[in-house]
Amino acid sequence: MLGLAIKRWNSLGVQTKLHILIQGTLIIIFLVSMEWVIARFEAEIARTAEARADETADGLINGMNLLMLTGGISDPANRQLLLSKMQQSEGIQELRIIRGKSVVEQFGPGLPEERAVDEMDREVLRTGKVQFKRLDADGGLPRLRVVVPFIALTNFKGTNCLSCHNTTEGSVNGAASVIVDLSREEAELENIKQWLWLGHIVIQIVLSIIISLFVRVLIVKNIAQPVRKLQLAMAEIQREQDLSRRADVDERNADIGEMARSFNALLESLQQANARLDLFGRMFHSSGEGILITDEHRRIVAVNPAFTDITGYTAEEAIGNNPKLLRSGTQSAAFYREMWSSIDTTGQWHGEIWNRKKSGVVYPQWLAIGVVKNHKGEVLNYIALFSDITKRKEAEQRIEFLAHYDSLTKLPNRALFADRLGQELRAAQRSGKRAALMFLDLDKFKTINDTMGHLAGDQLLQSVAQRLLSCIRQTDTVCRQGGDEFLVLLTEVEAAEDVARVAHKIITAMSEPHLVSGSELIVTFSIGISLYPDHGQDGEEMIKHADAALYMAKESGRNNYKFYQ
Ligand code: GH3
Ligand code: MG
Repeated sequence: MLGLAIKRWNSLGVQTKLHILIQGTLIIIFLVSMEWVIARFEAEIARTAEARADETADGLINGMNLLMLTGGISDPANRQLLLSKMQQSEGIQELRIIRGKSVVEQFGPGLPEERAVDEMDREVLRTGKVQFKRLDADGGLPRLRVVVPFIALTNFKGTNCLSCHNTTEGSVNGAASVIVDLSREEAELENIKQWLWLGHIVIQIVLSIIISLFVRVLIVKNIAQPVRKLQLAMAEIQREQDLSRRADVDERNADIGEMARSFNALLESLQQANARLDLFGRMFHSSGEGILITDEHRRIVAVNPAFTDITGYTAEEAIGNNPKLLRSGTQSAAFYREMWSSIDTTGQWHGEIWNRKKSGVVYPQWLAIGVVKNHKGEVLNYIALFSDITKRKEAEQRIEFLAHYDSLTKLPNRALFADRLGQELRAAQRSGKRAALMFLDLDKFKTINDTMGHLAGDQLLQSVAQRLLSCIRQTDTVCRQGGDEFLVLLTEVEAAEDVARVAHKIITAMSEPHLVSGSELIVTFSIGISLYPDHGQDGEEMIKHADAALYMAKESGRNNYKFYQ
C-alpha cells in the first residue's frame, strides 16, 4: 500500500507535487489556526458568560435586599415579585439561597424537595469565592451555574441585608446559587464560528489561488520556459541533423544551464562519434577490399560496394544469407573446420581461399576474418576482409614462368634445363641408362634478321621451337639456350644410333619451310651431340662437349650433326 503510494507520488510531475505539498501545508495551518482561534473565542465568550452570570447573581442579591426591606423574602407577594424578576431577567433558570448549611429558599421550576447543599455550595461557603460551573446541556440549552457568597447582616432597621463580593473566608454565612441560560452566548459563539469558518475558507481559497498562481509563474518562468526553449533547440538540431550546433546556455538558471551544458557535451561527443563513424563508413564504402560483416550466427548483416564488385552479389542478395553462399567447393570440410577453430581460439584467421562469384567463376581470394566481442567475451560479429588475388596470382605465375621459361618460344630456359639435366643425369646414373644432349644452332640466322627484320626473326624462332618439340618424345626436354641456340635432352637412350635418328629427324623436319610474315622461309640447324656417360659426367661437361661437337658440325658445312669426339 505504502509502496504503491510512493510509486504513485514519484510518477507525479514537479508542479503537481509542489501543489499538493503547498495545499496540504495550507490546510494543516488552516485547521490548527481555526482550532486556536475558536478556542480563544470560546474562552472569551465563557468569560463574558461568567461576568453576566456573576452580574445577574449580584442583581438578584440586591433585589433580595430590597425585598427584605419590604417584608422579607417569605412574603408571598415578594416571592412572586422575585420570580417575575427572574423570568424577566433573560436566562435565569434557578435561584437557591443558602444560609448556614442548608438551602433556605429556592426559586425556579423542577427544584428538588430535599434542600441539601452540594459540594459547590460548600466550597463557596468555605472559601468565600465565587464559583462557576458549566452544566451539561443534556440535549437542552447550555447553562452556567454560578454560586456567589454573601454575608447576612442586620442593618440599622433590624432587617437582614445580604452583602456580597466583599467576603473573606470565615466571614461568609450564605450563598446564592444561580443557573443562567447560556443560549445567547452559545448562539453568539455559533455565529462567530460560522463567520470564522467562512472567513477562513475564503482566505484559504484566495491564498491557494495566489500560491498556485505564484508556483505556476515560478515554474513556468524558471523551469517550463527554459525547458521548452531547450527542447525546441534540441528538436531543431535533430531536424536539421546538424551536430555542430549548440543549445544556448541560460546562465541565470543554474539547473537548466547545467542541462544545456550537458546536452552540448552530449552533442560534442555525438559529433566526434559521428565523425569517426563517418570516417569508418567512408572506409567501408570506398575500400577496395571486399568487406562482409555477419552477426553472431554468421548471418550476413552488411557488405560494402567492393564486395559486390568482387563477388557479383548485391547487398540485398547477400544480407541475411550465410557466407557459405560464396563457397566454391574447392576447400574440404576439414579446411573450414580448421579455419573456424582458429577463429574461435585466436579470434582471427587469414589465408588464401578459392571462392565462387555469382557468375560461377572460381577465383582466388586473400581472406582475413576477425571477431568482434562484447565485454563479456560473447561474439557479436565476424568481419571478413577479402580481395580478389586473381591478378596477383597471374603475376606470380608470370614471374615464375619468366624465371624458368623463355618468353619468346615458351620453352624451358637455361636455368630450368640445367635443373632437369642434372636430375636426368642422376636418374640415368642410377638406372645405368644413357642420355644424350644435343646443342643446336641455326645456320646463318643473322641473315634472316638482316633481310626480314628482327620481328620476322622472332617469329621464325617461335616456329622452329614448335617444330623441334614435334620431333622429340614427351619425356625429352627442349630448351632455348639463347639467341638462335637450342638444347635438347634425350633420356633413356639405348644407343648412339637412336640419337642420330632424332638428329636426322630434326634436320629433315627443318627442310620444310616456315611461314613467317607471309613468306616461306627455310632454315637449317647444325647439331653437336654429347652422350652420357660416354662424353661427360655432369651437365656442364655434357654441354661443353656438345658445343664442341656443334662447332665441328658448323665447320663441316652446316645443316648436319656431329657426335663429340
Ligand atoms: P652461324 O651459322 O655461324 O651460326 O651464323 P649466324 O648468323 O647464325 O650467327 P650466330 O649464330 O653467331 O648469331 C646468332 C644471331 O641470332 C645473332 C643475333 O643477331 C640473332 N639473335 C640472337 N637472339 C635473337 C632473338 O631473340 N631474336 C632475333 N630475331 N634474333 C636473334
Ligand atoms: Mg647461328
